[in-house]
Amino acid sequence: MLFMGVDIGSASSKCVIIDDAAELVAQAVIPAGTGTSGPGRAVEKALAAANIGDGGNGGANRAGGGRGNDCIRQIKAVVATGYGRNTYENADDKVSELSCHAKGAAWIMPGVRTVIDIGGQDAKALSISDGGKLVNFVMNDKCAAGTGRFLDVMARVLEMNVSELAVFDEKADGLVPISSTCAVFAESEVISQLAKNAPIPNLIAGIHQSAAARAASLIKRIGAEAPVLMTGGVANNAGVVRALSRLMGLEVLTSPFSQTAGALGAALIARERNGC
Ligand code: ADP
Repeated sequence: MLFMGVDIGSASSKCVIIDDAAELVAQAVIPAGTGTSGPGRAVEKALAAANIGDGGNGGANRAGGGRGNDCIRQIKAVVATGYGRNTYENADDKVSELSCHAKGAAWIMPGVRTVIDIGGQDAKALSISDGGKLVNFVMNDKCAAGTGRFLDVMARVLEMNVSELAVFDEKADGLVPISSTCAVFAESEVISQLAKNAPIPNLIAGIHQSAAARAASLIKRIGAEAPVLMTGGVANNAGVVRALSRLMGLEVLTSPFSQTAGALGAALIARERNGC
């Protein structure tokens, strides 16, 4: 028996499949399309990428009808989460991102006490109890600063892919501070630093420091307690992770499942709700 979690975010759709022993079967991350098809199409792609033989209908075959293969027939329940969860019609349940990230984080790292989740358009700090329960959280969903969007905009200004930022950051021998807290003003600041020929690695280190400072202030509001796990797509940016560890004075950990933590949590909740 299999359980599926689908996390439809602003920047990407994530799909995770687990079995009845809560072991990972497949995961996929598909960047959100910019076309007219929207998140539903991205979810279909994620399901196909997860290699579960979707048959092109977004998982609706899971009960065994239509073109679904054996694996699809085994999918007992689907939980959707994320900002676009209400757009996904094939879910049995829809669950908040906070609950899913807490659940996913506790699976990734048993004993985790603090989670910092930085996605495409928001950032959240979660405090987790001994038993893996969410006990407190704070979030920034009002301002682009310190979110993936901020980093995406900066990468565009620097004419590089967001995945290249960390590579340059590693070469920094100093830091060009970004003083504006507002993402729009920070963008102007970066443009003017470029005009002054500021060294690119040091400028990127400053951008990462600025994003990490926002995350650190969120974590401080709930009280940082180790171990700290970073989830969300920005966990792929080693430059931000390093800057955050430095600012917090403790190691911020990541996992190959950091970006899919929400979808993983959704799959775990689907499993629990079906008595496993
Ligand atoms: P959402 O859940 O809102 O869709 P994600 O958790 O998928 O967002 O995070 C998206 C953000 O993660 C992007 O805005 C980008 O800044 C960052 N990101 C994603 N992949 C990478 C990568 N390979 N390297 C660096 N940053 C990345």
